Amino acid sequence: MVTEKIKSYSRFSDLQSDLKSGIVTIEDLIHYYTARIKEYQHLNAFLEVFEEEALKRAVEIQEKITNGTAGKLAGMIIGIKDNISYKGHEMTASSKILKGYQAVYSATVVERILAEDAIIIGRLNCDEFAMGASNETSYFGPVKNFADERKVSGGSSGGSAVAVQANLCYASLASDTGGSIRQPAAFCGVVGLKPTYARVSRYGVVAYASSFDQVGPIAKSVEDAALILEVIAGRDPHDATSSSEEVPAYSQKLVHPKKQKIAYIKETLHSEGLDPEIKNNVLSQIEKLRAEGHSVEPVSFEYLDYVVATYYILTTAEASSNLARYDGVHYGYRSNESKDLISTYKKSRSEGFGDEVKRRIMLGTFVLSAGYYDAYYSRAQKVRRLIKEKMDKILEDFDFIITPTTPTPAFNIGEQITDPVVMYLADIFTVGASLAGLPAISIPSGKNSEGLPLGLQVIGKRFNETALLAFSNYFNHLNTDS
Ligand code: GLN
Repeated sequence: MVTEKIKSYSRFSDLQSDLKSGIVTIEDLIHYYTARIKEYQHLNAFLEVFEEEALKRAVEIQEKITNGTAGKLAGMIIGIKDNISYKGHEMTASSKILKGYQAVYSATVVERILAEDAIIIGRLNCDEFAMGASNETSYFGPVKNFADERKVSGGSSGGSAVAVQANLCYASLASDTGGSIRQPAAFCGVVGLKPTYARVSRYGVVAYASSFDQVGPIAKSVEDAALILEVIAGRDPHDATSSSEEVPAYSQKLVHPKKQKIAYIKETLHSEGLDPEIKNNVLSQIEKLRAEGHSVEPVSFEYLDYVVATYYILTTAEASSNLARYDGVHYGYRSNESKDLISTYKKSRSEGFGDEVKRRIMLGTFVLSAGYYDAYYSRAQKVRRLIKEKMDKILEDFDFIITPTTPTPAFNIGEQITDPVVMYLADIFTVGASLAGLPAISIPSGKNSEGLPLGLQVIGKRFNETALLAFSNYFNHLNTDS
């Protein structure tokens, strides 16, 4: 009975009131999730489970609940993506090169959820160094989609999405550089939020492309994503780029929005690779919003064809610099064939990194090299500026922009991994907000005829997660309550 109950929670306030009245205990939750993690081990979502430690913390936190001293996330059982440091625990970024590496300090996001009494249940599989859109670049293998195990989970936060989709934990933390929270959330039918760039500290999170990376929540409801964001967001002296903009209590501000002005990008619906069922899905969402009295108008975004190229030039450039630190000397893996400094670097990196990571380091090194810098890196920076200005301009006239989160539903495992260009195009609708640094969320948008989940992306104004979450919450309920 308790297990049916646990499965049904999608609003943390409901779970918390049952914890207070003793209908469920934190121990029940841990037993439930660890049993499910074992039952669904073949999904490959978890790389490690911290069962004993979680049970210990359960006792402490249960006591705090009894005493009335528990934090905001007391009883929330969270999985973390394997690129987020948790002191004393292994963290590999799903790469061979970091196998066996133990975090020497905790990421600020981890400190913050622990301070509010969340329990971290384990670490979650992802694409190697968060580079990928299907979780297939992970050294530990792909994550299977719980809706159809032949399909990919999406990526790079595949483990974080499937863990929530399959009830292996209550919610998860993930990171998003160009869609890694939103795209797997869409493929798995859950909610995924990428905050405004600089809203959340990156301290202790493995750097991929530092001017893009953001941590955010994956959850079953917008309410829960809002609650987690309010805990993890805010200025951090350890991350000089983190913003000192005040953090509202997002979860308390999910008020029913007045009539909104919404834009949709015309080009996204005429995009060549767009699945016809997704197109119809978005069109029917537009009609639904109009029927509710919102204005939804097409706008033109002439840079859609350039976003993927711009994103891949800039992120690979940043990655080539960020990944220079994995040299066989400081961290993790060192080749057995190391003879001197140069062979240590060469052999350790050749053996330690997977193909996709190597491809990106080479691409990034190329676009930054003398003679090509102006043609690629510097030009891409200018295009980034144009994209940002255009999106900001649209958001001066409108409250939100909506787009499909992905051009296709989850594809078959093995189907796209051999063609990087095809794989990169999976990011076409998510990288725009990343280039512009804007907050964006993917909410579930029903299923296609094969029963695969679809996602709808809502992009908001810079640092206005309050409005973005309130609207997405309302919209999500419009879809699920009817
Ligand atoms: N699929 C994109 C990439 O491969 C996004 C990854 C991410 O957001 N970390 O870069």
